[in-house]
Amino acid sequence: MNPCASVIDESLLQFLYQIPVATFRMSGAGLIDLMSPRAASLLLALGIPFRPGDGWAVLAALDESLVPRVRATLQTPGLVVERHPVERQDPQGRQRHLHVTVIIVEADSCLVSFDDITERIEQERQLGLQRQNMAVVLETIQGYCVVFLTLDLRVMQANRSIERLLGYGADVVGRALSDWIADRSIDKDTLSGLARLAIERGWSAFEAEYMGATGDTLWGDTILTTMRDTGGKAASFVAVVRDISASRRREVELTQQALTDSLTGLLNRRGLAEHVAPWRAAARTGSPRRLSALAVDIDFFKRVNDTHGHAGGDDVLRQVGALLLGQFRSADLVARVGGEEFVVVMHDTSLAMSVVLAERLRQRLETTPIIWHGERIALTVSIGAATMDGADDTERLLRDADLALYRAKSQGRNRVMQA
Ligand code: GH3
Ligand code: MG
Ligand code: MG
Repeated sequence: MNPCASVIDESLLQFLYQIPVATFRMSGAGLIDLMSPRAASLLLALGIPFRPGDGWAVLAALDESLVPRVRATLQTPGLVVERHPVERQDPQGRQRHLHVTVIIVEADSCLVSFDDITERIEQERQLGLQRQNMAVVLETIQGYCVVFLTLDLRVMQANRSIERLLGYGADVVGRALSDWIADRSIDKDTLSGLARLAIERGWSAFEAEYMGATGDTLWGDTILTTMRDTGGKAASFVAVVRDISASRRREVELTQQALTDSLTGLLNRRGLAEHVAPWRAAARTGSPRRLSALAVDIDFFKRVNDTHGHAGGDDVLRQVGALLLGQFRSADLVARVGGEEFVVVMHDTSLAMSVVLAERLRQRLETTPIIWHGERIALTVSIGAATMDGADDTERLLRDADLALYRAKSQGRNRVMQA
């Protein structure tokens, strides 16, 4: 160091030793009179030979193009010459990226500072690549869509996957997620609850029916993940929606099958219970409805089987089922609950009314010819009718109807009895 260094130089020297910046000062003649330890070690690492008398060679080794520019501006203090990034190979042949800044401190003297930014550049490149890969995956993955949402569940950003799955274009940005979730699958309040849960726990999951741009619907298994800012505060959501329509359809079919009598297509005993359940629930929450039930049993059905065979018997059961279904309102429940036993459950129907309906049914069956292989099969039914206020004990209602049916049988069949 120059022994005549001013007080300012002394403090600059102190400063340079303490900060982790690679910097040196040189005069117009190329004399280096200050150099930070970081600069010395970085020059060594880069394989740049350093001689105190030849600063221009060091600058040229850092970046050739800087030399004429610095020479040209050396008399104009304050000017900053910046080159970013500069590339050069280190002694191991590894590509290095440098950031070089030159400040003209006073006429005929400049401060050169440089930094190895290789790692940062590589990280950025890696990040860019990852982003690119991610974007490709997000856009092309089959059967999925990824949507970025604001905290109030509005679309912030969407890629092409949403177009593939639901048919929406870029105009979907700004729209509320609830706009395209069918209310019957998840209503707005439930959706807000799920968003709150995601903020609390980091994620929430739900299955919902999504309405596509062209009006068709899709069942989506959705995972809502909360994105947080650096302070850990919830900032946005990412929703990943997986198309589960096919398995959902299959599920519905299977449930439907399990609740249906395969011979007649009517509800089976389980189906009846399943459909009565909402009425029972409504009764519990204070809107009870009067329920009536008819228990219908074919008279001497064994004879049909004996005369026409089991296949003949089956076809008769199918025809009786269709006839029964045609006699009642669509909101009434018609079920086959045993071999040749049927049940009809009607709401908002008085006992007197249900007896009238039962009698009409009895007469209809007596007078409607049932044809099997060209032969007319005469058929009658016995019916028991019962009623109850509310729907909380449907087992009792069906038992009452059964008891009335039993009386109709014992009193000669082909008749209607009430509980
Ligand atoms: P009742 O007037 O007392 O009701 O006499 P029934 O012969 O109709 O009554 P029972 O309960 O003694 O006999 C019912 C018959 O129904 C017996 C059974 O063979 C027949 N059956 C039950 N399920 C089916 C079925 O799915 N298909 C056919 N073809 N017959 C069935
Ligand atoms: Mg019978
Ligand atoms: Mg029977």
